[in-house]
Amino acid sequence: MKPLQPDHPAPPDAQARRAVRPVVCYPVETLPPAGVAAMRAVRGGARKVSETWVPPRDAATFAVPAGAFFRIVCVEGPQVGDLNLWNAHDLSERFFSGKTRALHGTHVSTGDRLWSSLPHLRPMATIVDDTLDWYGFDAHGASVHDVIGTRCDPYTHRLLSGGEYHHCCHSNLTRALAARTGLPLREAETHVHDVLNVFMCTGFSRETGQYLMKASPVRPGDYLEFFAETDLIGALSACPGGDCGQEHSSDAARCHPLKVEVFVPQAPPEGWSAPLPSPYSGGHGA
Ligand SMILES: [Zn+2]
Repeated sequence: MKPLQPDHPAPPDAQARRAVRPVVCYPVETLPPAGVAAMRAVRGGARKVSETWVPPRDAATFAVPAGAFFRIVCVEGPQVGDLNLWNAHDLSERFFSGKTRALHGTHVSTGDRLWSSLPHLRPMATIVDDTLDWYGFDAHGASVHDVIGTRCDPYTHRLLSGGEYHHCCHSNLTRALAARTGLPLREAETHVHDVLNVFMCTGFSRETGQYLMKASPVRPGDYLEFFAETDLIGALSACPGGDCGQEHSSDAARCHPLKVEVFVPQAPPEGWSAPLPSPYSGGHGA
């Protein structure tokens, strides 16, 4: 945090230094178009092939073939979901929350892509529909579906509160991945990564820059829908924070289940082909 009483006085040209024009770090105009219109065009005839229920304070996994859609649905009451994605054939390729944030901003919506980890760096999924896209940024600078939080975890909880809480999203995702893959818990844990906070409403304090959360504006019937660019394994945790309006990492908040539906279209979107891993040579100048 920046000190309220700095040790060092501002130089005479402080205002001028602060006033220089900012530029976007990663302009995305050179990215190939996401192709959302073509994806939506085949969505109408898509057939539902699976439905996965995520119990409150727990997680569940699901599989989505490349070229299919998956929809995360709020069903009974306001609930935040913590999403992990892996390449179904290689768990080392996983969702890269940090680079997704660098490319698309702190909060994602329709047309944004969820990118995979280095050295792959390709779209794993593209957001094709978001019933909360009307929210925008509110008076607190907050919005929904962030790629800034990391997931609630028992280590940070222990650090800050001293107690043990086992139904944090990190532990929920770890148990769910271990159950799906048969990996020992310790090994499954190493594959759990920074999440997309589905339906969570978050921002940064203007005064201190601290990570803030507000009660999610999501209501039953709202959903966030994706087009799977590659064969995926997903895991979704119904956060113990519920709507994340008060606290997480406890059994205090009212929690609800979430639902994940997978739809397979009759034909692939026009012009779409599964993205290849980054063509960078891997030389690294050595
Ligand atoms: Zn959580």
